[in-house]
Amino acid sequence: MKISIIGTGYVGLPTGVGMAELGHQVICIDREISKIERLKKGEITLFEDGLEELLKKNLERGKISFTNSMKEGIADADIVLIAVGTPPHPVTKEADMKYVHAAATELAQHLDKYTVIATKSTVPVGTGDDIESLISKTNPNAKFDVVSLPEFLREGFAVHDFFNPDRIIIGTDSDSAKAVLTELYKPFVDKSEILFVKRRSSETIKYASNAFLALKIHYINEMADFCEKANADIEEVAKGMGLDSRIGNKFLNPGPGYGGSCFPKDTNAMHFMAKQNGVELTLIEAAIRGNEKRKKDIAQKIISKINHINSPKVAVLGLTFKGGTDDCRESPAMEIIDELLKHELDITAYDPKGMKNANELLGDKINYAEDIYSVANDADILVILTEWDDFKNCDLQKVIINMRNKNIFDTRNILNAELAEKLGFSYYKIGK
Ligand code: NAD
Repeated sequence: MKISIIGTGYVGLPTGVGMAELGHQVICIDREISKIERLKKGEITLFEDGLEELLKKNLERGKISFTNSMKEGIADADIVLIAVGTPPHPVTKEADMKYVHAAATELAQHLDKYTVIATKSTVPVGTGDDIESLISKTNPNAKFDVVSLPEFLREGFAVHDFFNPDRIIIGTDSDSAKAVLTELYKPFVDKSEILFVKRRSSETIKYASNAFLALKIHYINEMADFCEKANADIEEVAKGMGLDSRIGNKFLNPGPGYGGSCFPKDTNAMHFMAKQNGVELTLIEAAIRGNEKRKKDIAQKIISKINHINSPKVAVLGLTFKGGTDDCRESPAMEIIDELLKHELDITAYDPKGMKNANELLGDKINYAEDIYSVANDADILVILTEWDDFKNCDLQKVIINMRNKNIFDTRNILNAELAEKLGFSYYKIGK
C-alpha cells in the first residue's frame, strides 16, 4: 500500500518507519525544511529507542522517503495519515485545530483517486465531520472517507508499541474504508484487538483513555500525600492495591505530577469539550487543578529543605517528562524548575537525552552539567525529577561525593535510600 503521513513528530515518524518496516511504501511530509533534510539523510529528529536503525534500513531499501511538498506526498496515496500537533489553545486550553485544518485543506487539493484520510492526531469529537466538509469544499470532486485512527503509543516505547499495540481502534461506518484499514492492519490480527466503532466513539476513546490514566496518576499522588501525613508508605500501599486485578499495578507510581505533550493537554481539551456539551466532568476538573498545584507544592517542599542556607545551589537530575524520551513539553521538571527560579536559586541540571530541548525552553536560566557525575558538585540539594534508568543504576556515591550539603529530594522514589542515609544524607521521597 502507498501510505502518506503528514507530520514527522513523535507520532508521525515512528508510525512511518514502522509502516515501511512492514513493507508498505511510505512517504512522510512535514512543513519544516530542516527536519526533512535531516530525515532524508537518515538522521533522527527526535529520540526513540531503535528508531534510527529502522529509519536507515528502510531508507536504504527504498521503502520510506521524505518531502516538504504536499503535492508530491499525496500523489497516488491509498491512505493519508494526519499526525500533526493539536496543542492546547493558550487561553481556552481547548485543542487548537489549526494544524489539522490546514493539513486537511492542503491535502484536499491533491486527491485524484479514492483515498482514506485517517486522523492519528488526538482530535476533539466531531473533527472527522469538520475534515470531511473542509475537503469537500476545497475539492468537490474528491473521492474519500475520513476515519478516526487514534494513536496510543507511549513516548519512549514508540517503536515497540508500533509493532505491539494493545488495541487498534478504527472509527468509521464506511465499508470501503473498513476494507482498506483491514488490509493495512492485517499483520496485527493475531496479536492485537482490532475494534471498529463509530467515528465519534473512536475520537472519544482517545480522550477518555488519556483522561483516565491522568486520573490514576493523580489519585496515587494524592494517596502519597495522605501516606506522608498518616505515616504509611505509598510504595507498600501501591503494591497492595496493584495486586487487585480490577485495579492493576500500572500507573501507580507516585511522582511530581503527570506531564508531557498528551495528558495535560488532553485532560484540558476533554474538560473543554464536556463544557461545550453541557456536561460536568468533576473528576477531570479536580485532577487538572490538583496536578497543577502539585508541581508548585513540590517546588515549595524542595525550597523548605534549603532555605536556611545562604545562596543555596540545587542540582537537578532529569528534565524530560519521563525516562526514555527527549521530550520536555509540559515536563513537571520544567515547571518545578520555573518555580525554583522564582526564588532565584542557582540550578545545575543533567538529563541523558533532554538537554537540547530543555535548553530551548530554559536557555541560560540554569546551568547544564556535562554528565551525571558532575551535576551535584557544590550543591546543597540533589533533586531527582525524571525516572531515567541511568539514574536508578548510577554509582550514587560518586554522584554525591562533592556536595556541599547532604540533601536528596527524590520525586520519583528511584534512588537507593538506604545507601544515601548510610552516607549521612537526608533523603526525602514521595509518600513516605
Ligand atoms: P509533534 O509536534 O511532535 O509533530 C507534529 C509535526 O507536524 C511537526 O513536525 C510539524 O512540523 C508537522 N506539521 C504541522 N502542520 C503540518 C502541515 N500542515 N503539513 C506538514 N507538516 C505539518 O506532535 P506529536 O507529539 O507527534 O503529536 C501529534 C498528534 O498525535 C497530536 O495530536 C498528539 O496529541 C497525538 N499523540 C501524540 C502522542 C505522543 O506520544 N507524542 C501519542 C498519541 C497521540
